Amino acid sequence: MVELTRKGGRTMKCKRCGVEIPAGSKYCPNCGLTQEHSEGVVLESEGQNTSGTGRLAILPAELKGWNWGAFWLSWIWGIRNRTWIAFLAFIPYFSLVWAFILGAKGNKWAWQNQKWDSIEQYKASQRRWAMWGLIIFIIFITSIIVAWAFFWAILGPLGFFLWPS
Ligand SMILES: [Zn+2]
Repeated sequence: MVELTRKGGRTMKCKRCGVEIPAGSKYCPNCGLTQEHSEGVVLESEGQNTSGTGRLAILPAELKGWNWGAFWLSWIWGIRNRTWIAFLAFIPYFSLVWAFILGAKGNKWAWQNQKWDSIEQYKASQRRWAMWGLIIFIIFITSIIVAWAFFWAILGPLGFFLWPS
């Protein structure tokens, strides 16, 4: 059984003679050795887009990190990014924990579940999600503060009339 060594770029190394040959070659052009590909092995190399291929897809190193869009928008983000597991956010109380898991795993899941044209397209899309998440969060917090202030602005004078000190 010949094993192929992973290398950067779209090449691999022949196990016998060590010469670099194009990934997916059937024979080594140098020594003629038959190159076997073990099933289930995804040839991952720089510049290769494996998005949308499921669990075997490997997240490019530059996309590793926190996903704010998944954190803020959870299942809404999950619909567009075909990450249905995000719907676990509907479980009461667990949703808070889930938001943090989505934030941590979001990039990997979105890359595995959805076909993206390029890393750049992926980044641009996730940036928009993060921006909208932040905007909605700010609106949410602002409305709570406004409602709270409004509540006391009415209740304060009312209390003065009802229970004068
Ligand atoms: Zn060879």
